[in-house]
Amino acid sequence: MPRLVMKFGGTSVADIPRIRNVAAHVKREVDAGHDIAVVVSAMAGKTNELVGWCADTTPLHDAREYDTVVASGEQVTSGLLAMALQAIGVAARSWQGWQLPIHTDDAHGAARILDVNGPELIRRFKERGEVAVISGFQGLHQESGRITTLGRGGSDTSAVAVAAAIQADRCDIYTDVDGVYTTDPRVVAKARRLPKIAFEEMLELASLGAKVLQVRSVELGMVHNVRILVRSSFEQPENIDPHGIPPGTLICNEEEIVEQQMVTGIAFSKDEAQLSIRRVQDKPGVAAAIFGPLAEANINVDMIVQNVSADGLTTDLTFTVPAADYARASDVLAQSRTRIGYERLDGATDVAKISVIGIGMRSHAGVAAEAFKALGQRGINIRAITTSEIKFSLLIDEAYTELAVRTLHALYGLDKV
Ligand code: ADP
Ligand code: ASP
Ligand code: MG
Repeated sequence: MPRLVMKFGGTSVADIPRIRNVAAHVKREVDAGHDIAVVVSAMAGKTNELVGWCADTTPLHDAREYDTVVASGEQVTSGLLAMALQAIGVAARSWQGWQLPIHTDDAHGAARILDVNGPELIRRFKERGEVAVISGFQGLHQESGRITTLGRGGSDTSAVAVAAAIQADRCDIYTDVDGVYTTDPRVVAKARRLPKIAFEEMLELASLGAKVLQVRSVELGMVHNVRILVRSSFEQPENIDPHGIPPGTLICNEEEIVEQQMVTGIAFSKDEAQLSIRRVQDKPGVAAAIFGPLAEANINVDMIVQNVSADGLTTDLTFTVPAADYARASDVLAQSRTRIGYERLDGATDVAKISVIGIGMRSHAGVAAEAFKALGQRGINIRAITTSEIKFSLLIDEAYTELAVRTLHALYGLDKV
């Protein structure tokens, strides 16, 4: 029988009526003759609440206990969905990450999946004929026997990992939007749904701020060639033809996309912080003295710009770190001040990174230059720039985020229907 993975995010299982709606979607696919593994998130807002409880108990908590707490949201929804399915005559059983099991490493709070027992799941489909309702986000570290979690948004990754393990025909990610858009449709009303997007582009969109899929899920999909379809759980289950082409956005290989645009999408992130080290001696070894200690502290440095200081003799170095690491990065740099030898450390957290993504950029020059001009005309100052083969990112004042995204969305023809 064809196998399908169906993943439902937090808003899709936010309350009992929505869980019943999910059950109806699952029944539709069961009736159409599929073997189904469902992956569920916790109810909307639940994980935030659990994370908050950990922080309130003690700011510096044990990561293993954090996972024990935050993994609990998904236990509730998997049990409730199994009940809702049984209530409409669909045989179903819930499975927690540790029961399946989904093995991970021991990076508590951001664990990586090592393996999922696909053959065992397939055997259970054959023998028991039940829908497997799997708690997303959860894993098991085999050696310690402890529960792990996969990082925020990790249920997407659970779903793609299960799809790869059982060689599913498709992995459907049901969410509160009906696909992947040219940019966040909640911010830009003119954003358009993309029928297809290449793995490489989706990887950039996700890692540069579009939270519609967890980055790791796209990586896994790309490596294992899983067909991922992002679609809406709000559509009426009875209005969908399970044999027709399902509506949504397919994440696929580049070759499957016939009409390739130059720019595919725009992502943005407000979770950035800028650090500027003023008047550093311009001599060999300085960059190592700055970035070495940050790397040792496990702080990811992203955009880096070096320019001549106002005095014309020394240099200024500007770079970005995740906003959550801002205080730690400032401390690390203050501690290595004598080793680096700089005059002043400046910083800002009211910055945003806007990224323009498109495989078409490989073969077009001057794409970024157009953006500099358009933003300049609107009085938006660019603090830092990075480019790579299929994207460029600009750091600007956070207050201009929406204006910048809308400007670039129009500039690259993404507003057009
Ligand atoms: P779920 O709870 O189903 O996992 P998420 O909230 O994690 O859903 O992801 C869906 C959200 O991602 C949408 O509501 C939307 O606001 C946001 N989003 C950001 N960028 C995009 C984009 N380019 N296309 C679609 N949605 C996007
Ligand atoms: N419930 C988890 C979170 O909110 C995992 C997920 O929803 O994907 O991050
Ligand atoms: Mg999500």
